[in-house]
Amino acid sequence: MFLSVKEMELRKVRFDETFQAGRIDFSGEDLEQISPLRAQGSAELLAHTDGEVRIRGTYTVEMRSQCDRCLGNAVFPLDAGFDLYYRPVSVIAREEEVEIEEGETEIGFYEGGGLELEGILLEQVLLALPMQRVCSEVCKGICPVCGTNRNETACDCRAESSDDRWGALRKLEL
Ligand SMILES: [Zn+2]
Ligand SMILES: [Zn+2]
Repeated sequence: MFLSVKEMELRKVRFDETFQAGRIDFSGEDLEQISPLRAQGSAELLAHTDGEVRIRGTYTVEMRSQCDRCLGNAVFPLDAGFDLYYRPVSVIAREEEVEIEEGETEIGFYEGGGLELEGILLEQVLLALPMQRVCSEVCKGICPVCGTNRNETACDCRAESSDDRWGALRKLEL
């Protein structure tokens, strides 16, 4: 959905959209969208600004990725809100000499006549996901020695057994 600034000049633009999996491209992020993404909110042009736009709303979606520890499925139900400000890129061109102040980093920029809601949602979902994507906080991961998924089967490997294995290999070489 294109959020047109021209339309915002006339009225606040409200959106209530449901994006089926595939409409927002998460493929480059090793993520899979496993439920429709529903987003509701509004986009408005702020008065007495040089084209500054405020976009706020909420969304819900369920995402899936590979667990960083056990390589199984890690599922993330997201239910979050956003309140974002965007300025037209042309403003930076004019303010070239002005350094962007700290604290202004929350402001994004748009080019042309507006913004794609899909792009905003992609960014929001990536921000909402934890840095470490794990299936569960208590995920025990994969045993580095025998490769067993330790959530499913407990193995008897001890940390030092990796050294034993190298010892065995060395013996074989002799
Ligand atoms: Zn895991
Ligand atoms: Zn093991």
